[in-house]
Amino acid sequence: MRTALLWTTTASALMLSFLLCSNLFASEVSAVGSGTDARWVAATRYEMHGLTEEAVAEYLRLLATDPENEAARDRVMVLVGREMPQWLPEEAEKAAPFKCQAVEMAFGQGEEKAEQRLLVTQEGFGAREGERWDELHETGFKHIDYGYVWQPSRKRYEVRVAAHWEEPGQVQVARGTLGATLAFYCLAKELLGLDPTKPWGDPVDVWVTNKGQPGARAQGRAIYLYSAKTPRPAGEWLREIAHEYGHVSFPGLGGFTETDDEWVDGHLAELLFPKWLTASGAEWLAWPVADWEVEASSERQRLISLIGSGELDMARLAGKDKAARDYLLGLALRFEQTEGPEALGKALKKCARGTAAGFGKAVRDLPRKDGA
Ligand SMILES: [Zn+2]
Repeated sequence: MRTALLWTTTASALMLSFLLCSNLFASEVSAVGSGTDARWVAATRYEMHGLTEEAVAEYLRLLATDPENEAARDRVMVLVGREMPQWLPEEAEKAAPFKCQAVEMAFGQGEEKAEQRLLVTQEGFGAREGERWDELHETGFKHIDYGYVWQPSRKRYEVRVAAHWEEPGQVQVARGTLGATLAFYCLAKELLGLDPTKPWGDPVDVWVTNKGQPGARAQGRAIYLYSAKTPRPAGEWLREIAHEYGHVSFPGLGGFTETDDEWVDGHLAELLFPKWLTASGAEWLAWPVADWEVEASSERQRLISLIGSGELDMARLAGKDKAARDYLLGLALRFEQTEGPEALGKALKKCARGTAAGFGKAVRDLPRKDGA
């Protein structure tokens, strides 16, 4: 009797579980059968497994075909509120429920012309744990936005820059800084072949603060913009960020211990970036490039004129003072002008953490465009 009852109970349980399973299976099959529901099922499954990027991507694809889907919008905002995805799908451009802007830059000319798509968030997210703490100044920054770069091979946007700021009054400067840093990231990567986010993939952090005197500094892969409430001309904001991005992304060319800046990378970046930025059509930047380029162009000409058309004078690279630094800058700028940015990138890489003499040798030894 007891055995029979047990059998009956077990059989009933098995039957019930079979019915439940088959109902669940049937509903999943019917869900997978229609496109919108299939995306929802996939997104919730990714979410269940903690795969934030994949889940957000599916919800965004769902929103691209069904913009009124409130549930999908809610899920995206909940997920990005916890952790910002390291990558976003193409659909983020039009379907993201958080504020963002897609923009383009162009590089090169003629057949070598390439375009780069960028996506910057403009949501002013609340910084999450692990994002808000600046170790250098031991300060918490409440707000954060992200800059993504389109990766054609993976068909997705990947994060390359994160901008942090302290209070709502800094939002315009933070947005301008995020856009400018992302533009400089693309210039250095596309034209010189230099990418400071490799090999680990962590974005470059820019910290915008009201503390300190107007100016900026770089530390590792982080850029600090001080006294953000102090107004500057458009070109000055760009110049300060470009200078620091040079320190962050260039391999390091130093030894000028008798000047105010031992490493020349910052100066080189602030002379080259305005030229490349003007050619790349980055009109979407918060600060116009024109005035900066006028000043940089005349400084480039002055420095290039120091080299002349004669042989490279290695003795003039041996010093540690401003004269030697200017000669090095002139040499690098002339080399970029005649051989192109890619060749300059190669020369810089050949003397990472090196000196002016090392750079002079790299320039002298690299094969020329004309085969000389
Ligand atoms: Zn510097």
